[in-house]
Amino acid sequence: MDVPVPASRTEPGSGDAVKAVSVVGTGTVRIRPEHLYGTRKPLYWWLLTSRQWTPPQAINVYVIEHVRGLILFDTGQDRASVTDDGYFPSGFTGLIYRRLARFDIGEQDTLTAQLATLGYAPADVDIAILSHLHQDHIGGLPELADADLLVSADEWGELSRPGPELRGFLRSHIQLPGLRWRQVTMEQANDRELAPFTQSLDVMGDGSLVLLPTPGHTAGSMSLLVRRTHKPTLLLTGDLAYHADRMPRPAPPLSAAAASSPTPRATSSRSPGNTPAWSYCPPTTPQPPGGCWPADTGGHDASVPEHRHHRPPRRRGLRVPG
Ligand SMILES: [Zn+2]
Repeated sequence: MDVPVPASRTEPGSGDAVKAVSVVGTGTVRIRPEHLYGTRKPLYWWLLTSRQWTPPQAINVYVIEHVRGLILFDTGQDRASVTDDGYFPSGFTGLIYRRLARFDIGEQDTLTAQLATLGYAPADVDIAILSHLHQDHIGGLPELADADLLVSADEWGELSRPGPELRGFLRSHIQLPGLRWRQVTMEQANDRELAPFTQSLDVMGDGSLVLLPTPGHTAGSMSLLVRRTHKPTLLLTGDLAYHADRMPRPAPPLSAAAASSPTPRATSSRSPGNTPAWSYCPPTTPQPPGGCWPADTGGHDASVPEHRHHRPPRRRGLRVPG
């Protein structure tokens, strides 16, 4: 394979249920500075008057190789959004989408092409977890007919409320025929390490991949805690924060109250001394030599050697509620 490999990847661990965590990119997006950094201006004011765009932001997908299956966290932006004139709604709603973001998604930026850089095909994906249902997270859905798609029941409920398109939910690209959606709800968390979170969902039943409720950006947004042996624990945040440097330092677990804030940010309510070190991984994490803050890989970020990947066995009784 002679194309540049736009992925960073941890080295496989030993005796670890999580064999590798990779990040691949499905293109880039420029958004308004007011969107990225926040503003006191009313939403529609800055959206309709802003003349500036941010530098390109990555639109990433996390690829988790677990001993019992291949799991995605988010699915990126659909290339059809830049090639199909009918992808976005028409009229005023379409104007809002055009004012909101400018995408650059090449032929090599599709989910299928990016999974190929890791030696996988979309049919290899067992589970895709959607942090939430905005367009830059659901883009790979047309390619994932063979996967179980996990979304929070609260997020799915947003599709039935009035005006979903004006709130960033494009139902025609989400409720596609043939997809296997599974709405999940959190359970009482008995794991003290998750405090202050009191609810969670242990996706694989082994504590390695734990969904946490982080509403605020949307009503049903979820983050995924990835626990690895001898490596930093990762928190894949979705749009809870657009950049890791928007998160508090030193890295504490998010407070449930802060996670309910209406804007993508988080603050700590606990002293750093008794908090585990979680590395935050937003969807815009830069390609190598970047990585989650402070470092998601212990300094082992690297391009992916060709075909040097662990191919997990097909799933066997994944603990996913139906
Ligand atoms: Zn979003």
